[in-house]
Amino acid sequence: MEPWTDRTRLIGLALTMIVSALTISASLRTIAAARNRNAPVPVYFLAMGTAASATFYGGDAEKGAMIVRDAFEEVEAAASIFRAGSPVARLNAEGSVRLPQALPGRFDLAALLRRTLDASRETDGAFDPTVNPLMRLWGFRSGAPASEPSGEAVAAALARVGWTNVLISAAQGGDAGASATEVSFARPGMELDLGGIAKGAAIDYAFDKLRAAGFENFLLNLGGNIRVSGKPGVGRAEWHVAVRDPANPSQTTGQDVVLRSGEAVATSGSYERYVEIDGRRYSHIIDPRTGRPVGRQGSVSVIADTAERADALSTAFFVQGLGAADGSAAVSRAP
Ligand code: AMP
Ligand code: MG
Repeated sequence: MEPWTDRTRLIGLALTMIVSALTISASLRTIAAARNRNAPVPVYFLAMGTAASATFYGGDAEKGAMIVRDAFEEVEAAASIFRAGSPVARLNAEGSVRLPQALPGRFDLAALLRRTLDASRETDGAFDPTVNPLMRLWGFRSGAPASEPSGEAVAAALARVGWTNVLISAAQGGDAGASATEVSFARPGMELDLGGIAKGAAIDYAFDKLRAAGFENFLLNLGGNIRVSGKPGVGRAEWHVAVRDPANPSQTTGQDVVLRSGEAVATSGSYERYVEIDGRRYSHIIDPRTGRPVGRQGSVSVIADTAERADALSTAFFVQGLGAADGSAAVSRAP
């Protein structure tokens, strides 16, 4: 080894160490400054197959982020159809599943399933958590098909869809006194898909955990489902959330969604996820009446008292076309 190479390496190493030290001390100073001024400390991560963030205005952001990550993970482990062992995946594979009574402080999947069917009832079936056979048919669970599915194929998948065929009943649990919940399908080949409501439910679960741990001022965002707590800094009573332009999702529309402490907003749109079949785009939201992806472009944002309700209703309103002109971004309040 040439002596000058050694020297260069040593100098390089020293420089690297200086730069790292500077970077670390700079980020520590940023966090310290943020804490001092009660400025926001955002934490970004991935959860439930999408981008998540938690922004804290005061409090221990590191601890808060851990609470949020654990809460999202718990909901995903219960509700994901993509995790082989999850209760919902088992229901889909076996046609029925028995859910033991949720332990105190743990995520209650049976309660979410009951509220999910309430959302279907309230929206006359525009929100239908059994659309998975159609999601599969239109290419959202594997690759896109080479051509548009035939009318017969759509009818065959539709025969396996329908929220009124999800049966939820109380069952006797294993332990004395504990009541379990039995979930099953009235027709063969049905599948549950909580993709239109589970992110909102996860936000609410994390929200409650943070509040219980003493966090006051924060914003949670999971793939466009947002809920706020407290205030965004001293002297500010409201939160202002921008809406993505559905025609140009890297930009915002200029609409100003104002949220008060505890409120949530969710957006459903054609631009979020789609498949291309024969050069045409099909959105990931299915109209359960026709069995076809909603053809309309644009987005619907719904403000509600919980993220779960905002999530379910934004999906339903997009199906129903409530307030959304083609290509526009509609914002409404949950009834
Ligand atoms: P969101 O992004 O909240 O509007 O939810 C869209 C997701 O919900 C899709 O990716 C599907 O998993 C599922 N989904 C699609 N169509 C419907 C529908 N009509 N009702 C309920 N969930 C749906
Ligand atoms: Mg939704």
